[in-house]
Amino acid sequence: MINILENISLKHYNTFGIDIKARYFVKVRCIDDLTALLQTKHFQENRRIIIGGGSNLLFRHDFQGIIILVEIKGVHYQGSTQSSTILKVGAGENWNEFVELCVKNRLYGIENLVYIPGKVGAAPVQNIGAYGVEQKDFLHKVEYFDISTGKIVILHQAECKFDYRSSIFKNELEDKAIITNVYYELSREWKPNINYKDIKQELDKFTFVEPDAEYVMNTVKRVRKNKLPAPSDIGNAGSFFKNPVVDEQYFYTLKEKYPDIPYFQLDNQYKIPAAYLIEKCGWKGYRSGNCGVYDHHSLILVNYGNASGEEIFQLSENIRQSVQDEFGILLEREVIVVE
Ligand SMILES: Cc1cc2nc3c(=O)[nH]c(=O)nc-3n(C[C@H](O)[C@H](O)[C@H](O)COP(=O)(O)OP(=O)(O)OC[C@H]3O[C@@H](n4cnc5c(N)ncnc54)[C@H](O)[C@@H]3O)c2cc1C
Repeated sequence: MINILENISLKHYNTFGIDIKARYFVKVRCIDDLTALLQTKHFQENRRIIIGGGSNLLFRHDFQGIIILVEIKGVHYQGSTQSSTILKVGAGENWNEFVELCVKNRLYGIENLVYIPGKVGAAPVQNIGAYGVEQKDFLHKVEYFDISTGKIVILHQAECKFDYRSSIFKNELEDKAIITNVYYELSREWKPNINYKDIKQELDKFTFVEPDAEYVMNTVKRVRKNKLPAPSDIGNAGSFFKNPVVDEQYFYTLKEKYPDIPYFQLDNQYKIPAAYLIEKCGWKGYRSGNCGVYDHHSLILVNYGNASGEEIFQLSENIRQSVQDEFGILLEREVIVVE
């Protein structure tokens, strides 16, 4: 049974904590709910946004369409081989709880992705990643509800066009697919992935010889707690911008001017931390009224209390402009801006 509500505040449905209203709001708990929703005029005649935890969204204004909150639950065992196990996970499951469940059940691979806010259904959308792991590395297939036909479709890993913070769901299938279940294939053999600098440094502080998965997961939690603001304390949506990638020639032009520029080499291209560029432009710790740039991490824009979506958006535009003026690089947003 679906219940379409009207004029609902989204303050508790977006981690920026922006108090804007949605014209219509509906929770869906199963595929029958989606089938029923498809028949309604609220769905057919309005703009639609699908949300999970609202931790990668910035609403600029009141939203005049329908918000669809996916609450499909359940983690179901699908079978094992000697080396792996497949789980079918409802799109409405909490991502962090799913990671912890896997570690508890000795299913490995995604422990570095602990503490990423949001729901499982959103994880393939921007192909979440952290500390040297992306969810695509363990994704088996995605099940989605096709809005144009009302049918369930399966896409295997290779068909999802995963890339750095991107997938088919952010491009060709944007507004066309409602992810209902995600299948992950976890490893039954523990192989730590601890080469990422921040994790390695934290592990090296202690004389532990062979960290197990729980130990690595707790290390990631500690690193994240020190670095990232919890949305329950201060409104934010994690990294606001993607790290830009430039070609070799341009990288060396930049390096001449900024010898300390950090980078990560990808064949003939260079990924540069957006945080460095923003910090160099003097934004770290900047505050204007109700919003600003987090003082421990310049990639994170924060709502100190009553910021409007428009204020945060304008701040992000000012940052983009100054980075472009200084470095000739136009930062791309990681956060999805809802107009
Ligand atoms: C403190 C903090 C730290 C973060 N750290 C990281 C990090 O380390 N790495 C990282 O990659 N991200 C990070 N993020 C970003 C965010 O947590 C992820 O993008 C997460 O996957 C978003 O999940 P969500 O359920 O909140 O999605 P939402 O914000 O609700 O939605 C995000 C997008 O997915 C779409 N969507 C959501 N559910 C569905 C569905 N069922 N079907 C189809 N489309 C859907 C929405 O329409 C929207 O386009 C961080 C955010 C915060 C606040």
